Amino acid sequence: PIIFIGMGTCGLASGADKVKQAIEQELIKKNIKAEIIPTGCIGYCAKEPIVDIKMPGKDRISYCEILPKDVPALIETHVINNSIYEKKLLGTFGKSTDKITNINEIPFFKRQMKIVLENCGIINPTSIDEYIAAGGFRGFDKAIRLMSPEDVVKEVKDSGLKGRGGGGFLTGLKWEIAQKKIADQKYIICNADEGDPGAFMDRSVLESDPFRVIEGMLIGAYAIGASMGFIYCRAEYPLAIERLTNAINKCREYGLLGKNILNSDFDFDIRIKKGAGAFVCGEETALIASIEGKRGMPRPRPPYPSDFGLWGKPTVINNVETFANVPSVITKGAQWFSYIGTKNSKGTKVFALSGKIKNSGLVEIPMGIKLKDIVFDIGGGIPNDKKFKAVQIGGPSGGCLPMEVMDTEVDYDSLRSIGAMMGSGGFVVMDEDTCMVDVAKYFLTFIQNESCGKCVPCREGTKRMLEIIERIPVSYNHNKIKYEPLQRFKGIIHLQRLAEVIKDTSLCGLGQSAPNPVLSGLKYFRNEYEEHLFERK
Ligand code: SF4
Repeated sequence: PIIFIGMGTCGLASGADKVKQAIEQELIKKNIKAEIIPTGCIGYCAKEPIVDIKMPGKDRISYCEILPKDVPALIETHVINNSIYEKKLLGTFGKSTDKITNINEIPFFKRQMKIVLENCGIINPTSIDEYIAAGGFRGFDKAIRLMSPEDVVKEVKDSGLKGRGGGGFLTGLKWEIAQKKIADQKYIICNADEGDPGAFMDRSVLESDPFRVIEGMLIGAYAIGASMGFIYCRAEYPLAIERLTNAINKCREYGLLGKNILNSDFDFDIRIKKGAGAFVCGEETALIASIEGKRGMPRPRPPYPSDFGLWGKPTVINNVETFANVPSVITKGAQWFSYIGTKNSKGTKVFALSGKIKNSGLVEIPMGIKLKDIVFDIGGGIPNDKKFKAVQIGGPSGGCLPMEVMDTEVDYDSLRSIGAMMGSGGFVVMDEDTCMVDVAKYFLTFIQNESCGKCVPCREGTKRMLEIIERIPVSYNHNKIKYEPLQRFKGIIHLQRLAEVIKDTSLCGLGQSAPNPVLSGLKYFRNEYEEHLFERK
């Protein structure tokens, strides 16, 4: 038998290491020879620790919420008696039967479409052989053997893949600009400085399928002519860094990094740069400054990094999810990719579901499905019979969206039209008990702390906004309050004006989007601000 244990950070936090120990002891006790394979996260974090068992000639069966005390019965039932331990059954990776559902038919997985996450939780993230056996490096192999760098750029451009880090710029276009620049040295950077509260997409992908990200970078480097790459990963992700380091070493051993890769004249290597946790270093020019050893502060653009990037050389920066899409684009083709999603937003998007939602975890959905489908179908709705109030989408500078707009499709344009943004994939759900003024205060405090201080609108403006919000009392009782006309509350008007000026005049994306939680709060939950102020009188 083979026993798979989900050992991403979510699994470990739920006690997967103790479950693994218990399984090892039980196998010794019962004198059973079995292979134990640690995997990453399959996405269903709410159900960790997840353990799968595959008996010879049988389907792989998945069990959830396994505690060390479940292990003897699990081994006895499944491994010794070859039957199903129904108490903790999740599903089968084979065909559905009367008794057992295919894992992809479970509501959490049913509406998902996995490209980026296809190997996550399935293969051993420390084994290059397992990645290759799952079809890994086929995209890079095709690119380097059968395609010119121009063909690769065209394929990525035709696919319509946009940057998944928040900006939504066409990846192929970015690559084309860098490719056309003539320079003695070019760089490629993977942005893994995931700093949004509630976001864990990059961490999970790096922990669960690091080779896929490296393959995406290899293809990108070949396309633009880069010989050096950096992965800028926050130091708070030790497991991701450990697995990446192992993956880079394995790629070097297999001749996939270094000189004359796969006997070609293409040289490329990757280094990991640990970020010290500054949110602003997720902004590409600040990230470049940080790698150069300078203080991580954004600079005005243009020139864009594709022209003038790391140490003044043409540089392409994409985030983890963008690179993780690239191998499939090359292997299956631009046309296949462009059939998925909507007219202007192609492919899938990974979201980290958190907050007041039953099925918290990592999900990958085709662009174009509705927000309510994510909350209620995939996420399972709100726990404890509470009502849905809002979802914060796009990180601390995204918007808080109410039920009225839950019919909106997930794509870059639709989300922008309702005052939110795709962002990198944070998806924080709030229930009826959440105070929206408090939420705005929390995010504004975060942004204020993380503002690098370079430009006045963001440095001073967010501070003043926070001061106004802090003067609004937070304890109140919705039901007892009568509404007062808005005009009487100068605080709100000042807040709104300030927010709009900061949005229009800040130097980088952090400042430009900093007022979004307040603006969307005022747009959709204005009565709550009024209620707070009324109580203050
Ligand atoms: Fe720094 Fe904020 Fe200005 Fe960006 S907008 S450069 S984070 S002060």
